[in-house]
Amino acid sequence: MSNNLYERTRTKIVATLGPATDDDRVLHALLGAGVSVCRLNFSHGTLEQHKRNLDRVRAWSEKKQIPVAVLGDLCGPKIRLTDVEPEPFRIEPGTVVRLRPGDRPSTRDALYVSYNALLDDVREGNRVYIDDGLVHLLVTERDAESLVCICTGGGVISSRKGVNLPDSRLSTPALTEKDRGDLAWAIENGLDFIALSFVRWPSDIDELHALRQRAGSDIGVVVKIEKPEALPHLDYFIARADAIMVARGDLGVEMDVWQVPLIQKNITQRCREAGKPVIIATQMLQSMVTMTTPTRAEVSDVANAILDEADAVMLSAETAAGEYPARAVEIMRLVSESTEGFLRQHPRPPRLETVEADNPRASAIASGAVHSALHLGARLIAVWTSTGETVRLVAQHRLPMPIAGLTYHDEVYRRLCLLYGVIPLHVPPISNPAEMVAVLDRKLLGVRLVRPNDLIVVVTSTNPTTPGNTDTTLIHAVGSDEPPMPASPR
Ligand code: PEP
Repeated sequence: MSNNLYERTRTKIVATLGPATDDDRVLHALLGAGVSVCRLNFSHGTLEQHKRNLDRVRAWSEKKQIPVAVLGDLCGPKIRLTDVEPEPFRIEPGTVVRLRPGDRPSTRDALYVSYNALLDDVREGNRVYIDDGLVHLLVTERDAESLVCICTGGGVISSRKGVNLPDSRLSTPALTEKDRGDLAWAIENGLDFIALSFVRWPSDIDELHALRQRAGSDIGVVVKIEKPEALPHLDYFIARADAIMVARGDLGVEMDVWQVPLIQKNITQRCREAGKPVIIATQMLQSMVTMTTPTRAEVSDVANAILDEADAVMLSAETAAGEYPARAVEIMRLVSESTEGFLRQHPRPPRLETVEADNPRASAIASGAVHSALHLGARLIAVWTSTGETVRLVAQHRLPMPIAGLTYHDEVYRRLCLLYGVIPLHVPPISNPAEMVAVLDRKLLGVRLVRPNDLIVVVTSTNPTTPGNTDTTLIHAVGSDEPPMPASPR
C-alpha cells in the first residue's frame, strides 16, 4: 500500500465486525490495513455491541483523520434454526426429520425454525436448505404441526444456522419488526448506510424509503440482491438504491450456485453503467476463517471482482469470526494492489459518453473533466462536492488517477468511502468562491496527495457555497499563484 493512509486501494474493502474484532488492536489493524467501510450485521449481536463497535470505529477515524463509513445490515426475514440439542449433531441422507415453526430447542426428531408461516408457505416437493445449503431436506408430507422431510444431503446441524426455502413463495415482507427497530437505531446513531436483505419487489425498497423519509434521514440505502425474484426488478433497485450488494451467500442457496458468477457480472456491469456503487460479498476469502493463506480460487475470485471494477469487495466471517481477521484484510489489499496495478498499465477506454438523464449538467461536466485529466495526464481529479453526486459521476469512469472528493459535510465525507477510486477529504466551509482553490491546494498538499506544481483537474461550481451547482472544470497547477484556467465553458 502507498504509505499514505489517505491513499487506499481503488476498490474499497468492506469488513464485517464481530467477536473477532472485539480487541481494539485487531480493529485498528483492520482499519490501518485499508478497510473503508465497516459492516455491523444485525443478524448477530446486540444493539449495545453494535454501539460499542460504532463508537470504536468513529474514535479511530477521528484520531487518524481517515474516514470510515459504517453500514448496518438488516437481517430481513432470514429464517434460522433454534438452538440445537445436542450441539451439534449430524444427519445422514435418508433420515426423516420434522420441521416445525417455533422457538423450542431443535433435536434429532424435530428442527424448530423462526418462521411462523412455515406450514402455510411450504409445500410437498419443496426443498429446504440448512446452513447455506450444506444440508438438504425435501418435504414429503405436511401435517397440522410439521413438515415431514427426508434428508437428501447429509451434514452437521448446529444452533441458529440459516434455513433457505428456494422453492417456496414466502408471504413475509422484506422488513420485519426487528428490522424496523434496527433501522430506527441506525438512523438515530448516524450510521452511513443501511442494507436491506431479501429484497424481492419494488415495494420493498419503496417502504424503506418511506420510513427513512418519515424519520427525516438520508441514510444511504444498499439493496442486497439475494433472491431470484429480485432479478427482474434490478433496474428499479439500481435506480432507487444508493448502492447494490451482490449477496452471494444467500443467492447461491436460493438459486443454483453455478448461476451466481454470471449474475454477479451482470449486476456489476449494470451498476457501473448506471454509476451506482456495487459491493461483491461473501466467501471471498472463506478459507481464511481458519487458515492464514487463502486458496488460489479465492484469490482469483477477489481479482475477478476487481477486474470487473466493482466498487467494493466484502469480508464477512473472515473478519467477524475468523482466526486471522487482519491478515484477511491484508490479503484483500494485496490482491487489490496487484490487480489494480495491472488495470493501470492496461487502462480501458473511459466511458466518456455517459450522461445521466436525471443529472445531465453534472454528468457532462464529469465526462469533460475525465477527458481533460486523461489527456493531460493529471495527477488527480479533485471534486468539490456538497452532495457527493458529482464525485459518483466522475468515479463511474474508473480512472487510472485518484479522485479526491472534498466536502465540508460529515455525512457526505463518509459516504464517499464506498466509491471506486475516491479519496474523501474533509474541508472547512468557505464563505466566498474565490477561497475554494486555496483551500483545496492546502488540503491536497497537507495530506501529501500532490506536490507543488502537480497538474490537477478540479470539478467545482462558480458558486461552491451552494449545493447542486456543478458547472465548472479548472485545469490547475497546485500551489501556483496563477489564477486557474477554466477548462470548460461556464
Ligand atoms: C449474503 O447472503 O451473501 C449476505 C451478505 O447476507 P448475510 O451475510 O446477511 O447472510
